[in-house]
Amino acid sequence: MADTTSFSALSKPSYSLKPNPQIPQKAPLFILPKTLQKPSLFPQKPCLSHNTHITLSSKNPISDLVSTNEKSPDDFSSYFDDDDDKPREECGVVGVYGDPEASRLCYLALHALQHRGQEGAGIVAVNENKVLQSVTGVGLVSEVFNESKLDQLPGDLAIGHVRYSTAGSSMLKNVQPFVAGYRFGSVGVAHNGNLVNYRKLRAALEDNGSIFNTSSDTEVVLHLIATSKARPFFMRIVDACEKLEGAYSMVFVTEDKLVAVRDPFGFRPLVMGRRSNGAVVFASETCALDLIEATYEREVYPGEVLVVDKDGVQSLCLMPHPEPKQCIFEHIYFSLPNSVVFGRSVYESRHVFGEILATEAPVDCDVVIAVPDSGVVAALGYAAKAGVPFQQGLIRSHYVGRTFIEPSQKIRDFGVKLKLSPVRGVLEGKRVVVVDDSIVRGTTSSKIVRLLKEAGAKEVHMRIASPPIIASCYYGVDTPSSEELISNRMSVEEIREFIGCDSLAFLPLDSLKKLLGDESPSFCYACFSGNYPVQPKEVKVKRVGDFMDDGLNGSLESIDGSWVQAPLNQEVHKVSEVGKLSSLQN
Ligand code: SF4
Repeated sequence: MADTTSFSALSKPSYSLKPNPQIPQKAPLFILPKTLQKPSLFPQKPCLSHNTHITLSSKNPISDLVSTNEKSPDDFSSYFDDDDDKPREECGVVGVYGDPEASRLCYLALHALQHRGQEGAGIVAVNENKVLQSVTGVGLVSEVFNESKLDQLPGDLAIGHVRYSTAGSSMLKNVQPFVAGYRFGSVGVAHNGNLVNYRKLRAALEDNGSIFNTSSDTEVVLHLIATSKARPFFMRIVDACEKLEGAYSMVFVTEDKLVAVRDPFGFRPLVMGRRSNGAVVFASETCALDLIEATYEREVYPGEVLVVDKDGVQSLCLMPHPEPKQCIFEHIYFSLPNSVVFGRSVYESRHVFGEILATEAPVDCDVVIAVPDSGVVAALGYAAKAGVPFQQGLIRSHYVGRTFIEPSQKIRDFGVKLKLSPVRGVLEGKRVVVVDDSIVRGTTSSKIVRLLKEAGAKEVHMRIASPPIIASCYYGVDTPSSEELISNRMSVEEIREFIGCDSLAFLPLDSLKKLLGDESPSFCYACFSGNYPVQPKEVKVKRVGDFMDDGLNGSLESIDGSWVQAPLNQEVHKVSEVGKLSSLQN
């Protein structure tokens, strides 16, 4: 057996760290990132006593948005994501300061982040009169924006958002960025993540008279900012964030400032870059920086608040925390392989995951194929390590719309066949290793195995480039309830039998941690272990539409209304077999 490749040996990105002098870089107010101290340079001066509420002014796009869709805002029937039996991407955010094409750059960056959310998109820009103007809509970025919509968003300061709903239903009014007017001005926000204490915060705010306009957890942030007595503005953000629990990478825009914030655990990614003209850019992934020719400078650190205005970039910290808990699933599935996330190349991570599978779960085979697109890099890693050719045994259609008309006569595995086509010439008579990134409910995997066998594969060996998912995520990733997760209900052998493959192996969690080396404790593995760094306390919002039986997902029967109950105590039930992640070969 070959040695396991060390994850910590992965090369770091070679991006320039030089700030552009055109926007001065202020000295950080606090040294980051080990133990973050609450800033004390900004004493919280009490404001005039008042019970502030967010006022929805006419320039507030929550009530005064420019709808770009002809269809009813509530009509999402054609927008249910019909993608595979996978966790859903969360959201993507972007912010640009100091570029006359700010909204157009946001638009392009949102295209690069489209994989993080396809349900809605929006941009808020600050015009020359310091008015925050917004365009939001349901659907893809290309469906929401056109030339004339972007013409409505002049200015050199803008934020943008692509949405997949992790809390709040999919109505148009929930499409971000949100904007609200309050006592001292206007503020817009775009949020990636999920707050675990949203209901408690909302109830407390409503008790004090706040009126909510959406069902999104992000709106509580605006209310907390508005009701904060702290000064100056960014201390209001700090004050608000201290009350939040859970995952949040957010960008805010005011009349003259762009602010980026990442929660103290750093669950979701957020990076900073600059364009050659000095414009500062924040984005969920570096792939967005690449598209708009911004140079990656660094991550926004967990617990950090970065404020950009005419005086430059200021860094300050929120609160102390033991250690970050960055989402390892960003490397497994969510982020694009050309991105650098949490300081590491996603491509290299996935390649190494495949290499480990080849080392720890080898099998005699003739060809290695991938479930496209997210399994491709891990399959390349497996093939390279095993010395077996990688070939395209499954072709993914990129032209299937998000709705389709079923034939009147039932075609077995219709949904999967629309998306994935087997290549008989690659598969016929072969012993095939097929690499996928994860298994959620197992329904799609069984259909894929059947497709491969029907196309002539002699043996099908499935290799999964993640550990078994046994627990639901509460930090901004939409996974089914724990009861629906196949790895929470079955042993590896039982899953293999259910899927119908000849052997099945997952990436062992211990190997994944070993790869991460010293950095291992700074990652979240809750969906593989059930050990939540921030204990979920509330119900998790779901849509029935998340589980429409479109041939790719499971049936609706197992969905309890549109809600999934969060664990009531610290105990998260796990199947005993989860610890046994050895490969099983027939
Ligand atoms: S529970 Fe899983 S998906 Fe959610 S943040 Fe943690 S590692 Fe990521």
